[in-house]
Amino acid sequence: MPEARQPLQRSLSLEGLAFMEQTHSDVIEVIKSGQGEPLADSLITTTRGMAVAVLVADCIPLLLSSENAVAAVHVGRKGVLNKIAIKTIEKMRLLEAEKISAIIGPSICDKCYEVSPQMYEEITEVVPASATTKALHALDLKAALIDQLTSMSVEVNNVQLCTLCSKGQSGKSDYFSYRGGDEFARGAGVICL
Ligand SMILES: [Zn+2]
Repeated sequence: MPEARQPLQRSLSLEGLAFMEQTHSDVIEVIKSGQGEPLADSLITTTRGMAVAVLVADCIPLLLSSENAVAAVHVGRKGVLNKIAIKTIEKMRLLEAEKISAIIGPSICDKCYEVSPQMYEEITEVVPASATTKALHALDLKAALIDQLTSMSVEVNNVQLCTLCSKGQSGKSDYFSYRGGDEFARGAGVICL
């Protein structure tokens, strides 16, 4: 386990903490322990005291909670396209999660996530909710994700913070941002039952 993760587990008094090796896939793993690091972009657990984590630096850290299962999901542009959030909710329901609510953590906003005109056309054609009205060719991934979550009757809590342009007390962003120059550092979204 890399250096910063054990203090995180200790500071949150967690019995176990599981990470995943994220590849922008739609692979979902249901886990019982923090052993290993599965190739996945969504981790679900039904084990009490076992936490699941997602690492991000601009992508959306999506945390899903319910009485019987929780999930940490990595949602970027590809994740919006491959509908990993919807697939995770379907899987949680198979595990008897009934009332599911979602937290959308700090991630890049619709003003900062500019892409090429060609990519903008491609994505917004498939996912109209990601379109913005600006001439910037910036995608609104949070709006697209919220659209998917509400289509699944999931209550959404959006912290409405941008990893690139939300400034903390220091005047700089409090979050790691790939576009902001953080090549390796990541923020973690953690949830447990
Ligand atoms: Zn922003």
